[in-house]
Amino acid sequence: PLILGIETSCDETGFAVVRGRELLADVTASSMDEHARYGGIVPEVASRAHLEAFVPTLDAALAAADVDLGQLDAIAVTAGPGLVGSLTVGVAGAKALALASGKPLYGVNHVIGHAAVDELVHGKFPDRFVALVVSGGHTSLLLVDDIATGVTELGQTLDDAAGEAFDKVGRLLGLPYPGGPHVDRLSREGDRDAIRFPRGLTSGKDKARHPYDFSFSGLKTAVARYVEAFQDRGEEVPAADVAAGFSEAVADVLVTKALLACERSECDTLVIGGGFSANSRLRELAAERAAAHGVTVRIPPIRYCTDNGAMIAALGSALVRSGAAPSPLDLPTDSGMPLELVRV
Ligand code: ATP
Ligand code: MG
Ligand code: FE
Repeated sequence: PLILGIETSCDETGFAVVRGRELLADVTASSMDEHARYGGIVPEVASRAHLEAFVPTLDAALAAADVDLGQLDAIAVTAGPGLVGSLTVGVAGAKALALASGKPLYGVNHVIGHAAVDELVHGKFPDRFVALVVSGGHTSLLLVDDIATGVTELGQTLDDAAGEAFDKVGRLLGLPYPGGPHVDRLSREGDRDAIRFPRGLTSGKDKARHPYDFSFSGLKTAVARYVEAFQDRGEEVPAADVAAGFSEAVADVLVTKALLACERSECDTLVIGGGFSANSRLRELAAERAAAHGVTVRIPPIRYCTDNGAMIAALGSALVRSGAAPSPLDLPTDSGMPLELVRV
């Protein structure tokens, strides 16, 4: 099927066209530059930017794919989770396109899209796999039987997302926003064994009760205390070692839990998606340890890990191939859309 995918859950306006599992075009506009000076996403600014970028980005994607609306089989749009104002712009625009073109509309789950996009890169999924979706807003572990129908949530973060924790540590270390990539870069100059930071929910009762859940707030607090102790003494903070020890703790927990999920659910494939999969230590550790477990790791190139239209088109295509019914034309946005729902 020929599918148009529309993504507007946060600060990226993404449009993409896929045919089956083949990506024909993918165009993204971002309002991150406008948010950077506020040190965080400003929802009102993001919504307005989606409104301004909607038609030009749509036109660019259709032109790049050499497709017009009339040729599409369906339109897929992110229904949630995300910022309600941002989602509303995308869903309203998608409804207008569906109504004008008479095409079926699917309102789909953004987090599941982060896993679905890998089919466009590495081909058809195996019958069963584990997916780890890690970004600025999400840290979720999923068991996937069929991405269009059978996603089970194994666990998620109980507090901060991994990217969010990186951004907060970036601020502690005086790095620009968003801090994630800066902390990653700095960590490459440090000694990852110099400081041992806590790994949340990995031992004792916590581990037994939350084998697949994550918690990064204790780690963040430990880093803050460590940094403040140097600052109070007027000493220079060993920032590279802090970044390296912190990155190691996050990557260790993510990879340990993801591989435990693979082992216990007898999966030999781990798909990693979301903007945090750019993290260099996560990539290294996942590759190293997965090989020892006989697990194949699939991570799409970075441009498909951050928010984009291709992930939504990929999930829409999987839904159409599985024969799923479209969403009603008055479909709601769902800012807290649960993982049990692939579509609304
Ligand atoms: P979502 O709605 O999916 O959560 P988002 O915009 O918050 O979207 P992404 O754009 O997918 O998330 O990812 C951005 C997050 O990943 C930010 O928190 C950023 O700091 C973090 N990040 C990006 N690159 C790296 C890296 N190399 N190391 C650590 N963190 C990174
Ligand atoms: Mg983003
Ligand atoms: Fe995302």
